[in-house]
Amino acid sequence: MAELRLEHIYKIYDKNVQAVTDFNLHIHDKEFIVFVGPSGCGKTTTLRMIAGLEDISKGEFYIDDVRMNDVESKDRSIAMVFQSYALYPHMTVYDNMAFSLKLRKVDKKEIDRRVREAAKILGLEDYLKRKPKALSGGQRQRVALGRAIVREAKVFLMDEPLSNLDAKLRVQMRAEIQKLHQRIQTTTIYVTHDQTEAMTMATRLVVMKDGLIQQTGAPKEVYDTPHNMFVADFIGSPSMNLFQGRLTETTVILGEHSFPIPPTYLRVLKEKNYLGKDIVLGIRPEDLQITAADSPYIFRATVDVAELLGAETFLYSSLANQTFIARVHADSNLQPADVVTLAMKEEKIHFFDPQTEERI
Ligand code: ADP
Ligand code: MG
Repeated sequence: MAELRLEHIYKIYDKNVQAVTDFNLHIHDKEFIVFVGPSGCGKTTTLRMIAGLEDISKGEFYIDDVRMNDVESKDRSIAMVFQSYALYPHMTVYDNMAFSLKLRKVDKKEIDRRVREAAKILGLEDYLKRKPKALSGGQRQRVALGRAIVREAKVFLMDEPLSNLDAKLRVQMRAEIQKLHQRIQTTTIYVTHDQTEAMTMATRLVVMKDGLIQQTGAPKEVYDTPHNMFVADFIGSPSMNLFQGRLTETTVILGEHSFPIPPTYLRVLKEKNYLGKDIVLGIRPEDLQITAADSPYIFRATVDVAELLGAETFLYSSLANQTFIARVHADSNLQPADVVTLAMKEEKIHFFDPQTEERI
């Protein structure tokens, strides 16, 4: 059982580097939370404050209602997995996993039970006598996870644990970590700059930028209703298309094109006084589809680049002098210079304020 509460947490490094600003988050027991954001946005700093490896400059941090700010790292019941694995090269896999328990003077029999249990969960039973250098990258990463598991800690913290693995292995380990979590259900905070990793693994995402939380929510919720243009751009691959445009009383103008304002949006745009003003229209690549049917949301576009990715094709083109990507079925078999008719899905159109960059 572990529930974490971070209340108005700040990290100010010396020389006034403010790495984390007013971080508020309630993490529930058994959650798999992912902190995601570009490099330098404060993910590691936040994780290190939770681990007790870095002082909290301001704010309160609780585990199960016990204030942790001044509790030493070793007394926080937290196990951390790093990108670098941090394995001891001269020790066997068994000893690497047993080491922290020996330090804690855990009974030898109990150590053996826990190490073998973890090895079984991770499929490392046949490797216990090997040294790290005789293991593959994926196996080393499993040993690093094993060291966390044997601790039987209340919380797992993982800082970009897969970034040293090649793409294929990363996908495989992603699934393994998820399976591990389903099995042992330890509350986990996982840090990554990779939005795909974040989307696929998280029960809840925390999207960060410049030390500030931009949005928290289930992956699908964040994907479907990004709170601002940064989140719209960062979550999803390829990114959401964002077009500069202008509203009249009834239409959205993008260059020489004009589309009706989706009826569901009309009231809010009117209430918030956006009619007649500049806006940003957002549409995800998969919500732009080639169509033969008539729709008020169709436009013609010339293909610049067509990237075939097996089942689907990414079409690069432009609308009102602004480039965009459409994600269409590969059967379309399109080539550069082909002209296509695309339709925006009306219910998938997003609007943002160009000044604040917030969702309208
Ligand atoms: P992330 O893990 O998201 O890449 P970090 O938490 O490592 O980001 O860094 C957040 C910000 O804090 C960055 O601007 C970084 O340069 C700064 N920073 C990190 N560690 C220190 C430190 N020990 N001293 C001063 N500034 C730091
Ligand atoms: Mg980091």
